[in-house]
Amino acid sequence: MASAIGSVSMKLLQGSVLEPFSSSVSSPRMALSPPSCVVRAGLFGQRSSENVFQRSCSVPQSDKHRGCLNAAIATPEVVQEDINYEDLALQLVDASPLEIMDRALAMFQSDIAIAFSGAEDVALIEYAKLTGRPFRVFSLDTGRLNPETYRFFDEVEKHYGIRIEYMFPDASEVEALVRSKGMFSFYEDGHQECCRIRKVRPLRRALKGLKAWITGQRRDQSPGTRSNIPIVQIDPSFEGMDGGPGSLIKWNPVANVTGTDIWSFLRTMNVPVNVLHSQGYISIGCEPCTRAVLPGMHEREGRWWWEDAKAKECGLHKGNIETAETSNNGAQNTASVSELFLSKDIKAFSRAEIEEFANLEKRENSWIVVLYAPWCPYCQAMEASFNELAEKLGGTNVKVGKFNADKENKPYAMAELQMKSFPTILFFSKNLRNPIKYPSEQRDVDSFLAFIRALQ
Ligand code: SF4
Repeated sequence: MASAIGSVSMKLLQGSVLEPFSSSVSSPRMALSPPSCVVRAGLFGQRSSENVFQRSCSVPQSDKHRGCLNAAIATPEVVQEDINYEDLALQLVDASPLEIMDRALAMFQSDIAIAFSGAEDVALIEYAKLTGRPFRVFSLDTGRLNPETYRFFDEVEKHYGIRIEYMFPDASEVEALVRSKGMFSFYEDGHQECCRIRKVRPLRRALKGLKAWITGQRRDQSPGTRSNIPIVQIDPSFEGMDGGPGSLIKWNPVANVTGTDIWSFLRTMNVPVNVLHSQGYISIGCEPCTRAVLPGMHEREGRWWWEDAKAKECGLHKGNIETAETSNNGAQNTASVSELFLSKDIKAFSRAEIEEFANLEKRENSWIVVLYAPWCPYCQAMEASFNELAEKLGGTNVKVGKFNADKENKPYAMAELQMKSFPTILFFSKNLRNPIKYPSEQRDVDSFLAFIRALQ
C-alpha cells in the first residue's frame, strides 16, 4: 500500500507542451508571450535546429534557452492533480529511459532540470534531446574536477547547443575549510564536510529553483546504497521551489538500466564521452576523490576508496542510505523481519562464541564470517550469494559463519571486529589471530571466492 507521503498534490502544467517541429503554436490552452519569440519546442538542444532557433528567438544569445523557454510557458493552463509517485514508479517500471524522460519533461517543463556530472550521465542529455522537448541541464562545479571534465562540459555544450547551468560553492565557506584544514582534509576526516560545502549546498540552491530533477542514478552503480532506487520518487532529502517535504520530485530514468546498456546506447548514438573513461575511470567525480578502477572492480570502488563502502554517497543522494538509526528505530520494525543466512552450511555464532573465536591465535580451519543485522537491506541483498558460497565451500577447509552484530552486540562488533556498517565480512585465517576485512562492494559468489583464494 502506498504510504501517505507517496501521494502529493502537485500543480502541473498541462496543455502547454508545444508540438515538436511546429512553427507556430495553435493550442487553445496555450498563449505565447511575447509573440515574437516563437519557440520550436523540441528543437532546443538539437544540432540541426540551431539555425531555426536563432531565426525564431529574439532573446539575447546568452539567455536563449531559459528566455525562450520561459516565454513559451509563460501563461500555461495550470491544472491541479494528485499524483501518487509510488504508483507512478510502479507503472513506469518497464518503461524505457526515453519514455520516462519524456514523461518527466512533459510533466514539469521548465521546472525540471537534468543533473549532469560530466560522466556517462550524458546519456540523460541524449535521451532528453530525443524526446524533442525543451530541457535544462545543471552541473555542480566543485572547483576540484579533472581538467578533462571541464573540457567535456564544453564539448557537451557545443554538441547539444546548450548552456549548462553551473552551480558553484560559496567562496567564503571554501576559504574557511581549506584555511583551517588544508586542501585534502577529506583524506583525514572523511569526505562529508568538503562535499557538503562544494556539492550539497550548491545542489540545495539549484533544487530550490525547481520542482523536479533528473538524475543518472542506476541500481547497479552501488549494491550498498543504490539497489532500491525507484524510477520516480518524492525526493527524500531536498526541497523544491515550493518548499517543505514533498515539494521536489526526483526522476531516475536509468535506474533499471545497466552500465553496459548505457555504454551501448552512448556508442550507438555517437554521444561524446569524457576521455577519462578511456583511462580506466568509470564513475567520475572530483579529481582527488576519483581514481581509475581495474577490470572486475566495481565502479564505486573508484570513489572515496579510503572510506567504508556505505559512506560512499556524497550527500547528493543521501536518501539512498538507510542507516541503523533510520532502519532500526523501533521494536516493531525489528520484530517483523526474518532471520538471514538460514543455511545448514552456515554456523551462527553466539556472542560468547565469537569472542572466544576471535581471540584464538590459531584455528583448525579458516572461516569467512558475515556480521549482519536482519533488518539491513544490504545484508538481505547478499543473502542468496552468501548462502551459495557456504554451499560451495562445504567439505573444504574454509568454513562459513554469521554473527548477528545488531543491538547489544553492535558496540562490541564496532570496537573489536572492525565493523563500521552492516554487512561486514571477515576472513579469519587459521594461522592469524586478527581477521581480514572484505574490502569490496561486490558481493557475488565469484568475488567472495577470489577473496578467499587470495588469502588461503
Ligand atoms: S568529492 Fe572530494 S573534493 Fe569533491 S567535494 Fe567531495 S570531498 Fe571535496
